[in-house]
Amino acid sequence: MNDPAAAVLERARALVEDRKLSTVTRWKESHPGALAIGHMPVYVPRPLLEAIGCMPVALFGGGDAIDIIRGDSYFQSYICHIPRSTVELALLGDLSPIDGVLFPSICDVIRNLGGMWRMLFPEKYATYVDLPQSFEPDIGGAFYVLEMRRIARELAERGARPLDPARLGEAILRENERRAAIAELDALRREASWRCRASEAYLLVRAGGVLETREHTALIHEFLACARRRSGRPVDNVRVVLVGSFCEQPPLELVRALEKSGCEIIDDDFQLGMRMIDGPIEIAEGEDPLVALSRAYLEKGRDTASRYIGDLVKGAGLVRRVRESQADGVLFAAASFCDPALLDQPMLEAALTKAGVPHTSFKFSENMGQFSVIREQAGAFSDAVKLWGAEGAAP
Ligand code: SF4
Repeated sequence: MNDPAAAVLERARALVEDRKLSTVTRWKESHPGALAIGHMPVYVPRPLLEAIGCMPVALFGGGDAIDIIRGDSYFQSYICHIPRSTVELALLGDLSPIDGVLFPSICDVIRNLGGMWRMLFPEKYATYVDLPQSFEPDIGGAFYVLEMRRIARELAERGARPLDPARLGEAILRENERRAAIAELDALRREASWRCRASEAYLLVRAGGVLETREHTALIHEFLACARRRSGRPVDNVRVVLVGSFCEQPPLELVRALEKSGCEIIDDDFQLGMRMIDGPIEIAEGEDPLVALSRAYLEKGRDTASRYIGDLVKGAGLVRRVRESQADGVLFAAASFCDPALLDQPMLEAALTKAGVPHTSFKFSENMGQFSVIREQAGAFSDAVKLWGAEGAAP
């Protein structure tokens, strides 16, 4: 039977695979003089960029679509893959529609990539985005407001529109609509995963990296309307939360292999930047929207390895997510050599073990092509959870 959602998914897939950024080129043609600003994962304040007339473009590396020839010579061998493929894409000219790049403070690799970028492309804008490490509004909050003002000012010097609170307020509202649409998508996965598989949500959310917010929201709504018409029935898979893939992305085929192994991924941190703020960004009466954007990061930012969490307990947020989504277990899927994910993992595993939640782990790289070992491992995990529950699947 024809799948009512097939055409929408095909569009999303084309956007994800468009490594030469033709969508961004078309956007620039229809917005003469406007800037397209790339950003590395995980999180940057995308509404700020839209408010000053820029197109935010999420850069997720080259995946398995390119051979790394020159990119390798810029980095040591024992780091993750995404910086090499990003440099390779840039040297190939595939990122030429991009006028600048934001490098968020998520790890040393991204910090070094920012420095490399400035040397390689001195004519393009490049900046490090220092995200707050203090969660006091008067300290970390005020600092982040200054940081966002600096970026807006520097981009205005390069042709962006000056920052205007009213426009920023509108951009935040659009971002809230997108977040609400993604939340609906996530809810559908949790409640009726046969109507929306993880691999489909992966495509739909990632496609937003090269779309204006309003267009992305419309794409997700279109999918939801089609997916709700899908016939089908529940599949006897174990329900898992997948963590660790917040920056470098696993190949889509790996996500599919996990689904085929008997693991239904009902929650994940793929493309976390699109979900980094939990719930809407609220602007209080008379409040500067920039302050609201900063406050949302401090108060509603998701627990993740690349975000400092002060005195909170590592793993508590993950256990809560497992409970809320009624998951049976957790898959740790970190990019090879991803320091933030792999340094956090033992603490998260300890919290899960203490809470009696089964878990297993593997590593990937964005360009891997063989999935059979991981598929077998996930299949064995799924069988163990089904047969013996938490005890039988203990690592
Ligand atoms: S995959 Fe991990 S180590 Fe590599 S750039 Fe991303 S956060 Fe940093």
